Amino acid sequence: MKITAVNAIPTSLVVNPKLAIVSAAGAHPESHYLAITVQTDEGLVGYGEATVAPGWSGESQGTALVLIQQMLAHALIGSDPLQTNMLVDRIDRMLIGNPFTKAALEIALLDLKGKALGLPVYMLLGGARRQGKIPLKFSIGAFSPKEAVRIAKHAANLGLRAAKVKVGLVVEDDIARVQAVRSEMGDDFRLAVDANSGWTEADAVRALPALERLGVNAIEQPLRRGDFRGCYRLRQRTHIPLMLDESVFTRQDAIEAIREDACDFISVYPGKNGGILKSMEIAQIATAAGIECTIGSNLEMDLGTAAMLHLAVAMPNLATTVDHDILGPLYYLESLTQRPISYEDGCAVLPEGNGLGLEFREA
Ligand SMILES: [Mg+2]
Repeated sequence: MKITAVNAIPTSLVVNPKLAIVSAAGAHPESHYLAITVQTDEGLVGYGEATVAPGWSGESQGTALVLIQQMLAHALIGSDPLQTNMLVDRIDRMLIGNPFTKAALEIALLDLKGKALGLPVYMLLGGARRQGKIPLKFSIGAFSPKEAVRIAKHAANLGLRAAKVKVGLVVEDDIARVQAVRSEMGDDFRLAVDANSGWTEADAVRALPALERLGVNAIEQPLRRGDFRGCYRLRQRTHIPLMLDESVFTRQDAIEAIREDACDFISVYPGKNGGILKSMEIAQIATAAGIECTIGSNLEMDLGTAAMLHLAVAMPNLATTVDHDILGPLYYLESLTQRPISYEDGCAVLPEGNGLGLEFREA
């Protein structure tokens, strides 16, 4: 079997304006991504998704489109699509960085391989380690306390029993927002916070007593990217587990975070890490260090969300005390796949079928 074509299709989805996320990293009102198709001479097609956000990884719909059309597609066409490692290595040698762009192709190759072999993607990762229902936490933007409460109630109406509140702006406002959600939702509702690199170390230290009092179960990315020493010092001051997201894109980042004792959890997901296999490798590194991983998100569409679910089912160290961000489809008013991702009992449900288990609706 040979790859005959690689296409990148620009997509645009509006985030439900009632839920649009505001964080220390900015607003996320609309998603301009790419859907990827990898075609073969045997008629099989693999689907992927480039979940790009310039403020997150420096990649945009435009950069991903150009890199795939002008460079990466040519590196794949004519090759055996089942030789995943060889193709991934080839792409890595050609292009530094750009994890979401690379992940899009890797996800499409694994979808294709699963279809060719008659297996779901998680079987290509060694098989399932848990059931295909992964508990979620909703993401509550850095809104006023009243708005934050409204969104928390929306999450509860969807069956979720956990959320993370975006903080990382003005500490007093951040605390008021978390306080409002805790008061309304009660003590059984699991609450994390995500500062998206927005706090200084002094801000974070100032926020800690209130976060402890409010029963926050994780603090995600309190300090700027790469500040492992600062996170180490914060960990000495609190019993709340600290999670790194923006600071860990690569395997090398994970090793550095572990060396510096900078975290209790590492957030992984295929887009950020450059593919499902690299997320799996980071999860293995973390496992060896006794650290659990959560699934983070860049508001994926259904294809990217399916990739996260296959990873979540197969990875060794999926966190159980903190919930996961497999929630992109809950934010969009439409789906570009024939069957959207389904949600039950506050969990995202692994799609059934070979490959990712979803089919892209090509216009
Ligand atoms: Mg985050």
